[in-house]
Amino acid sequence: MNAGREGAETGVTAENVRRVRELIASAARAAGRAAEDITLVAAAKQNGAASVREAIAAGVDAVGENRVQEMTEKLLAGAYEGAPLHFIGHLQTNKVRFVVGACALIESADSPRLVEEIGKRAVSLGIAQDILLEVNIGREPGKSGVLPENLTETLEKAASTRGIFVRGLMAVPPALAQNKGNRRFFDDMMKLFVDIRGKTYDNVDMRYLSMGMSDSFREAVLSGANMVRIGSAIFGLRKY
Ligand SMILES: *Cc1c(COP(=O)(O)O)cnc(C)c1O
Repeated sequence: MNAGREGAETGVTAENVRRVRELIASAARAAGRAAEDITLVAAAKQNGAASVREAIAAGVDAVGENRVQEMTEKLLAGAYEGAPLHFIGHLQTNKVRFVVGACALIESADSPRLVEEIGKRAVSLGIAQDILLEVNIGREPGKSGVLPENLTETLEKAASTRGIFVRGLMAVPPALAQNKGNRRFFDDMMKLFVDIRGKTYDNVDMRYLSMGMSDSFREAVLSGANMVRIGSAIFGLRKY
């Protein structure tokens, strides 16, 4: 089954967006916050331009992509018109040039070296690139992201890198924890976010805390997330 195509044909995608919005609103209310404070990013990997357009028409706030090649193809197809594009996957330094400037927000800046390359490219384009710093909050070996104990140093370095504007933090907690609805990692992220927000850096505005996916966005919002990245709950299950 191609979930993307089917969604576009039947209006399932739009219906899913409405349902996800309602669930986000109820989680926001439970956390004493307003639904409008939560930015809904549709994680569109493996879903075609038609599905992406339907999600945008249904009112998602942004579209997230994981792979540069797939994003470039959909950009050419005009898939993202009407919504800001976010990069949310691991970005190799040799592909930075395809993403900087094309994306309103690079959520997955996961190493000092990558931040440096993004900055260089942004400067050459004469822009400042908005990024989130990705944190490996579960301290998983082989997983992308800055370890919590290195976050301050990486943030300070990013803040002093020309062409970079840091807009917040992002995390993908361990899958097992997400499935169990374990809020510990989300709470840990919120603590880091609040700590940094209490300090003042140039070129840093701790505005977004991006965490929570289809099976965990309620827990994430309860812990303080104000940006959620939802794939399968909008587009249907992906085929691997
Ligand atoms: C795919 C993806 C998501 C969304 O995952 P779902 O479980 O399908 O909601 C969120 N964030 C990132 C980084 C992803 O790659």
